[in-house]
Amino acid sequence: MITAHLPAGYLTGRAIAHSGTCLWMAVIGGVLPDLDLIWFYLVDNRAFHHHHYWVHIPGFWLMLAALVLPVLQVTKPHWLHPALAFLAGIFMHLCLDTVAGGIKWLWPLSDQLYRLFDIPAQYGHWVLNFILHPVFLLELLIWGLALWAVMRPAHPSNR
Ligand SMILES: [Zn+2]
Repeated sequence: MITAHLPAGYLTGRAIAHSGTCLWMAVIGGVLPDLDLIWFYLVDNRAFHHHHYWVHIPGFWLMLAALVLPVLQVTKPHWLHPALAFLAGIFMHLCLDTVAGGIKWLWPLSDQLYRLFDIPAQYGHWVLNFILHPVFLLELLIWGLALWAVMRPAHPSNR
């Protein structure tokens, strides 16, 4: 995914809550993994695919959740639902990155990046290869659904 992580995070949050902390934690989780691009460009000088960083590895988040969620449940139970919404956003991000980018779903057993589609390098810039591939229609669909959700009046049971 190039552009759809923000609206997908929003849709994830809307599936959990109409507004409030859980919604915004899902949005943050939906975009947070790609903050590794700062490190990718400024520190590692694009030495390898940024999906190899820990923020793009499901096993890392599962281990972190296994450590943090029980502690939250005991010490700060009101933070548990926002934390779960954040994780939902993270895993939505990782699922969308699986479409064409590749994610290490079997780490630590394997370092292979798993993806559903390979985007052939037909054009001069990688962004053009993604935008002109049919898989980009999924990004447009996600944006359309998110805009529809934003404009949709709140249902009283969702408040
Ligand atoms: Zn990503």
